[in-house]
This record gives sequence, structure tokens and C-alpha cells, in this order.
Amino acid sequence: MSSIKFDLRSDTVTKPTIEMRKAMAEAEVGDDVYAEDPTVNRLQSMIAELFGKESALFVPTGVMGNQIAIAIHTKRSDEIIVESESHIFHYETAAPAIIAGVQMYCIPTVKGELASSSISEAIRPGDYYFPKTSLICIEQTHNRHGGTVLSLSSIGEVSGFAQSKQIPLHCDGARIWNACAETGTAPHEYAHYLDTLSVCLSKGLGAPAGSVFIGTKDQVEYARHWRKLLGGGMRQSGILAAAGIHALQFHREHLRDDHEKARIFAEQIFSQTSCTLANSGGTVDTNILIIDCGFDTDPQALRNECSKRGLEISSGRGQCLRAVFHRDITMQEVKEAAMIFIQSFDSIMKENR
Ligand SMILES: *Cc1c(COP(=O)(O)O)cnc(C)c1O
Repeated sequence: MSSIKFDLRSDTVTKPTIEMRKAMAEAEVGDDVYAEDPTVNRLQSMIAELFGKESALFVPTGVMGNQIAIAIHTKRSDEIIVESESHIFHYETAAPAIIAGVQMYCIPTVKGELASSSISEAIRPGDYYFPKTSLICIEQTHNRHGGTVLSLSSIGEVSGFAQSKQIPLHCDGARIWNACAETGTAPHEYAHYLDTLSVCLSKGLGAPAGSVFIGTKDQVEYARHWRKLLGGGMRQSGILAAAGIHALQFHREHLRDDHEKARIFAEQIFSQTSCTLANSGGTVDTNILIIDCGFDTDPQALRNECSKRGLEISSGRGQCLRAVFHRDITMQEVKEAAMIFIQSFDSIMKENR
């Protein structure tokens, strides 16, 4: 592992800085199971205020934030509507079936934006033999679509429709910070349309762990019960919350640079190889790049070749690879990483000949 020069597998590889570690070391702490950790309480208030909601709850992971949301909004044997490429559907170990006891109804979209017409068709009629549709989930930014940003108006439309059907709307906002940074939209402007959110501190923001569930006071009290049930009641977790506070104060403003890095990398590799951009919508909205290697290139061979030369990227669907840009790679290093990608591509193409 020590030969990794550039790690673009995910923005979760970001490590706490010296300043962040200092903030963690100096954090005032208490027992959070008694809700007595002042640093956790401070983080929760900060987040609630940023999102214009009554309350917030620090949870260990984004998956737990989402699963708590699903649990508090639903009853066993209900159905929830998710987008076909959502993290909740693909990467959360079928947890909704196990924890809340609900099934997922997947709706495909172009770039993550659910349309009220397709939701309308998906909502179950009231007959006793149907599951009851009790939650709609969206994802901002949308990971598997390539970090796409859902527009405020599309969220507004889904929200209006959900309200008219009295179905709550949850947002998996693991990377909502990137959407805010890119569009200049404030967290509360998105949250205005949402009943609950789960947001990650451990992705591009660079904290070592932690997510936050956000909602009303009652929802958060119920969430606290579920967090404990799931084994997520931590004690002096102010050490971790301090990293989150530090990230909000000092790292949020740099997220836009990560989008710029993704665009620079894209420009270089797509102009000098036959790879193409596979982000939905064909744009680099934020920090995620899905790279289509083309039918005649073995993506695993390309990935291995990059790895040999010190560049780590992850695999995607079919012929695709994924690169995610973050604060632990500089603009200059992005250019070097792109060179490695191009050289690796040329090298495996030569072998094929
Ligand atoms: C990372 C991520 C999560 C949560 O992941 P954890 O590893 O549990 O923190 C949820 N949704 C999306 C879209 C993500 O990218």
C-alpha cells in the first residue's frame, strides 16, 4: 500500500489534518448516551441550524443515518420508493429489509431526479394486499450517476407531490455539501423541501468518521432510540464530533476545488485516450468521474496498470472505472495522476496490438 501515490478510489480516503487532530485532541467531552457530550451537542446544533431544522443526531455512518430514517418513517411490510441507482438500494446490504422490514421499489431516472409522474405510478393503491408506500428517498449528490446535482426545482417538485400524498421525503445527502458548494445553494434551501436528511462528514469534508441525521425534534428523539438499537450509541464521541465541526468550519469552502480537479482530470484523459465520460447527463457536476473505457479495453487491466504506477481508482459497472477527487490530492498531483492514467492506457493498448 505504501507505493500508492494518488488515491482516487473515493473521497472517503481523506485523512484528518494535523489541525483537525488537534481539535479532536482538545475536544471537551462527556457521555453522549446521556446526551452530555458538549461537543456532540454543539455539532448537532450547528447542523440543525445550517439545515433549518429543529434537531440533529450524530451517528457513526451514513448507512446508519439512512437506515434510521427508513425505520422511523415506516412500519414493517411497508414499501419505500428509491431511485434505481441509489446507494440505499445498491450499497446498504439490503438493510431496509432487515432493519425496518420494508421492501424497496426502484424507479430508474436519467440522473437521479425522480419525476412526480413516475412516483405517482409507483405509489400503491390502498387495497389490503399491497404494501403501503410510506417513504420516498432521493440522493444528493447522486453517487452512481457520477456525482450529479439534483436541481432545487426537481426536489421541490417531488416534495410538493410527496406532500400531496402525505408521504415523507428523505434525502441521502452524503455529498449534499458538494451540491451546495457547486451551486451556491444553502443547505437549508434543499432541506426546506425535505422531511429528513442524512449527511456525511467523512467524505469530501475529510472527517475520519461520522454522519448526521436531521429532522424535527420528535423525529430525532425517535432516531435516538433506533441509533441505540443499532449499536450506534457512543460515549465520548465528542472526539469525533470535533473533527466534524472542524471540517464544517475549514473544509467546506474547499469542496469546489475538488470539482475543478475532476474537470481538469477529465479534460486531460478524454482528450488523450479513447475513454469517454459516462457520468449521467454527460457533465462533470461535482467530484465524481465515471470513465467508460470502451468495448475493446479491459477496465480491470487498465486499473491494474494504473495501480502498478501508483494511481488507485475503483471499478464501476461494465466497462467503467470511477475516480473521485478530494482534498488530499492537489491540483498539480491531479495532472500527474492524469498522466499516469494516459500512460497506463497507452501501455495496455500496446499489449493488445
Ligand atoms: C458514502 C455514502 C453513504 C454512507 O456511507 P457510510 O460509509 O456508511 O458512511 C450513503 N449514501 C451515499 C450516496 C454515499 O456515497
